Amino acid sequence: MKVLTLNCGSSTVKYKLIETDTEENIAYGKVERIGMIGASIEIVTQNGKKIVEEQELLDHVMAVDAILKMMIRPDLKIISDFSEIDAVGHRVVHGGETFTGSVLINDEVIKILKENIQLAPLHNPPNIQGIEAAKAVLPDVPMVGVFDTAFHTTMPDYAYIYPIPYQLYRKHAIRRYGFHGTSHYFVSRKACEKLNCKVHSCNLITLHLGNGASVTAIKRGKSVDTSMGFTPLEGLVMGTRCGDIDPAIILHIMQQEKLALYEANNLLNKFSGILGISGKSNDMRDIEELYNQGDNLARLTIDIYTYRIKKYIGAYFAVLGHVDIIVFTAGVGENSPLIREKSLEDMDTFGIKLDHDRNEKIVGGKDGVISSDDSKVKVVVIPTNEELVIAMDTAKIVKKMGKKLKK
Ligand code: AMP
Repeated sequence: MKVLTLNCGSSTVKYKLIETDTEENIAYGKVERIGMIGASIEIVTQNGKKIVEEQELLDHVMAVDAILKMMIRPDLKIISDFSEIDAVGHRVVHGGETFTGSVLINDEVIKILKENIQLAPLHNPPNIQGIEAAKAVLPDVPMVGVFDTAFHTTMPDYAYIYPIPYQLYRKHAIRRYGFHGTSHYFVSRKACEKLNCKVHSCNLITLHLGNGASVTAIKRGKSVDTSMGFTPLEGLVMGTRCGDIDPAIILHIMQQEKLALYEANNLLNKFSGILGISGKSNDMRDIEELYNQGDNLARLTIDIYTYRIKKYIGAYFAVLGHVDIIVFTAGVGENSPLIREKSLEDMDTFGIKLDHDRNEKIVGGKDGVISSDDSKVKVVVIPTNEELVIAMDTAKIVKKMGKKLKK
């Protein structure tokens, strides 16, 4: 089955066309600057041919249309007709409490997603726009929504309820939801496969360290706690997001600096984290370069970043009782031996021992074990593939629907 996955942001669409029977990528790419001057579409074909073109793309409908037109270009030989696309899988950031798994998108689902907008005002509106755009361009193709929050719906209430008045949970659904669920799900399964153990009989701590970052405690295959919360702002230090801070700091800064709500929101989401501490960049590659040149704020950034990871690992050890596997994934997790080494430094008493040479070698999209042979806890690097989870879930649901229709 050929499944098109779409991940829509406010001015971007990332996409991949996947053959789910073989798990092969047929083509992938992104559209950027939708609705702005200099909008562009990029496509990379299976044989590595890459095309980037500027086009006038005023909205998501035009963007999805442009993606499909690229795919049927005879010179690229990707597909010959739109009808070859069997289904579309949409990444949806927030499923609220309603969606505990992926669903076939219909009018009722879109209605609930719209009701959930207040839970994810930055993320869900472009996701809904993407769904509506795809429906406008491919009206007869089944669509599935895959939620970042779904994997975490197994958390116990004491992990997801905040210690604020309980009515606020009832009235405004304020609770921990957790995000990056498809990634934590995927790497936990792949890690178990690689280490030859059954996911339902082992415990893992999965570290998704990208521009956004989160860590999940997984007990016998199920998420029991995760660092992101009501929004993707809580938890680890991220590229531009602050992660855990004393909530009173926000009130204090708003008062002292006379900040409006949206300014405080920008400060915490766009100007904090790695960028905020270093004052130079949100990109860990830049920070490592500065660190190697002896820059003190780069040293401090890396120290805070890895110290916070270590604290979460310690906390999740206590939550899980024992840990079999620690997984690193996403941009930083897959590529930075320095961050991995510093995050796990001096954790021999937890049974964690890194093998320095193995750690140095696993970069650039490779997977592999980086712990030493006598480490009780196995540490692995697993490249994440959220699009594959979206495509496989979509194919499963659409096949099931087909069987029902035949009956
Ligand atoms: P992601 O959100 O998973 O695409 O990850 C993006 C982040 O990964 C950016 O902050 C990059 O700096 C970081 N990253 C990518 N390559 C490297 C690398 N070689 N070393 C350190 N960080 C990296």
